[in-house]
Amino acid sequence: MILIFLGPPGAGKGTQARHISEAKNIVQLSTGDMLRGAVSKETKAGKEVKTAMDKGALVADAIVVGVIAERIADPDCANGFILDGFPRTLAQAEALDHMLEARGRSLDAVIEIRVEEKELVKRIAGRFSCGTCQANYHDIFNKPQKEGICDKCGGHTFIRRQDDKMETVKARFEAYRLQTAPLLPYYEKRGVLRTVDGMQSVEEVAGAIAEALKTI
Ligand code: AMP
Repeated sequence: MILIFLGPPGAGKGTQARHISEAKNIVQLSTGDMLRGAVSKETKAGKEVKTAMDKGALVADAIVVGVIAERIADPDCANGFILDGFPRTLAQAEALDHMLEARGRSLDAVIEIRVEEKELVKRIAGRFSCGTCQANYHDIFNKPQKEGICDKCGGHTFIRRQDDKMETVKARFEAYRLQTAPLLPYYEKRGVLRTVDGMQSVEEVAGAIAEALKTI
């Protein structure tokens, strides 16, 4: 199965993609995580990536497409994969079409998670994650049971994303509106788009996605 998760920053793409990845045993490919990995290695490309990410802008298509093209050729993607944060521009969507065609594969569904901007701001403002196992937390909605200790792995270090600062978040919303939202009609025309209401709880959204996947 090949799935795409689409939605603005903070909609819950990563959380829901992880859920399906575990339930169906298919890999989750988060371009955000891959690019953060490139930044931490401090390569030449990593520096260019960091400049764009710090501004809340999209990273150049050629870089992101290259990263995905290489990754989907790995053996663990043979069963399928879930794209979380890719494609984000029409050029990336077209590049993905070509990659899949060349491999004789096709997209099963694009899940749009729709959330109002006011709610997105609340979610992003308080989010942080475990520095060891990447489990996600939130200052208000989802605190660790014991303050300062990760529920999942017992880790003590937590991180907040640099680009979750409000000035940067505004630019990320703008990038979504201008560059990514045009993908919705692109996939709708092909009959693969399924939209779920992301204003519900994590469990309810997961249920809505499970229902949507029954229709593919
Ligand atoms: P995310 O973790 O998905 O919110 O992505 C964080 C940042 O990584 C974005 O604001 C972009 O700067 C960059 N990024 C992630 N995926 C892409 C993509 N498909 N195309 C361009 N930039 C991306």
